[in-house]
Amino acid sequence: MAEPTPAPNEDTPMITQPQVTDFQLSPALKEFQGYVRDYAQKHLGGAARYDAEVKFPGDAVQAAAKLGLLRTTVAKEYGGSAMGNLASCVMLEEINAVCASTGVTISVHNSLVNSLLGKWCNDAQKRRWFPKLVTGEWLGAYCLSEAFSGSDAAALRCEAKKEGDHYVMNGAKLWITTGSEAKLFVIFARTGPDRVKGISAFVVERDWPGVSVGKKERKLGLRGSPTTEIVCENVKVPADCLIDKEGTGFTIALDTLDGGRLGIASQSLGIARAAVDLIKACLAAKVDQKGRPTASQPEQWTLADLAAELDAFRMLTWRAAILRDQGVRCSTEAAMAKLCASRLANKAARAAVTILGQAGVDGSNPAERILRDARITEIYEGATDIQRLVVARGLLAPA
Ligand SMILES: Cc1cc2nc3c(=O)[nH]c(=O)nc-3n(C[C@H](O)[C@H](O)[C@H](O)COP(=O)(O)OP(=O)(O)OC[C@H]3O[C@@H](n4cnc5c(N)ncnc54)[C@H](O)[C@@H]3O)c2cc1C
Repeated sequence: MAEPTPAPNEDTPMITQPQVTDFQLSPALKEFQGYVRDYAQKHLGGAARYDAEVKFPGDAVQAAAKLGLLRTTVAKEYGGSAMGNLASCVMLEEINAVCASTGVTISVHNSLVNSLLGKWCNDAQKRRWFPKLVTGEWLGAYCLSEAFSGSDAAALRCEAKKEGDHYVMNGAKLWITTGSEAKLFVIFARTGPDRVKGISAFVVERDWPGVSVGKKERKLGLRGSPTTEIVCENVKVPADCLIDKEGTGFTIALDTLDGGRLGIASQSLGIARAAVDLIKACLAAKVDQKGRPTASQPEQWTLADLAAELDAFRMLTWRAAILRDQGVRCSTEAAMAKLCASRLANKAARAAVTILGQAGVDGSNPAERILRDARITEIYEGATDIQRLVVARGLLAPA
């Protein structure tokens, strides 16, 4: 005999309305996605040349500025479009699916520099720098890493000593994206002995005496994106260029990286998508005389697995972006997104090269370039093992 249905407990949460979770972009975001896709098709055709000639995609970045793509994370009162993190992720996937060198330039400018200034600078500072940054007249760079300070960011040695109404900055920052092109640097420097609380953030302008661009790195991938040393020798930094207050630099750096990691997760999704598209085109072309598909089952499985992971990790990335847009801390979610998406970019790019065979390495299509570009997504803005640490720390933190 069937058990009688138990009477509802008064404590049981009741759902009275049908609950709908919509995994689709809003019509406005879909329109924006199409707008950026159009930009990418029209202006990023030089991606292979930027890579081959190790050439900065200056024209493409300026075209992006004209279309308003360098102001998505800036508030409207400072000339931005205040579109936020989700829109920026959608935009960066589109751009990186075609040119990852342009993609990282725009990601750093928007997700690291503009976001940081918007959140941590005072009104006078924003009015001073945003007019140049939102129009692309100036590009921004984020300067945290040093020779002995990569994953261990708190080990940085660059110092800023207070002398009256200014600081004197000395030190060298390494591996700085857009280093040779940027006019504004956010530099993290030591203002006190405490490993973490002794770090402060400053805006430093390229044209100030003592600021110079040092060695340019020769890289495996992202060759259109210049990565350089930034050297400060007795640079007089006015006290009103201190961001927030002394001692909050490390907090600012890490908080900003949550948003930056969404940018790199989106870059990874774009690269993975480009690889999946190459595989799809290759397998679709494998047909017998009657037009029936002849791609092997393992090849089809590879395509299916990659496409499924691409959708899944896009959702992971968008979830973290939505949380950040809502002002909710998303360090764990952003690290999960970057961890998974950057691994996928590498897996998909490797699979594309494998399935395309000789055509995967001869430069006749983007496969070999995206394989080289993908490798870097697992290193910068926190290497893969660091993302795993951040995720594990988040999961193990007391509730
Ligand atoms: C193309 C490119 C552009 C970059 N742009 C910028 C930029 O614009 N601004 C900026 O400030 N920096 C930038 N960087 C620097 C980047 O953020 C660092 O490379 C990154 O943080 C890793 O530091 P590292 O290279 O010193 O490697 P390391 O810190 O030496 O790490 C190497 C490896 O050691 C392991 N490891 C290290 N520490 C740990 C740990 N605690 N637990 C477990 N494993 C660990 C990991 O496997 C890691 O991959 C860029 C780097 C590249 C490659």
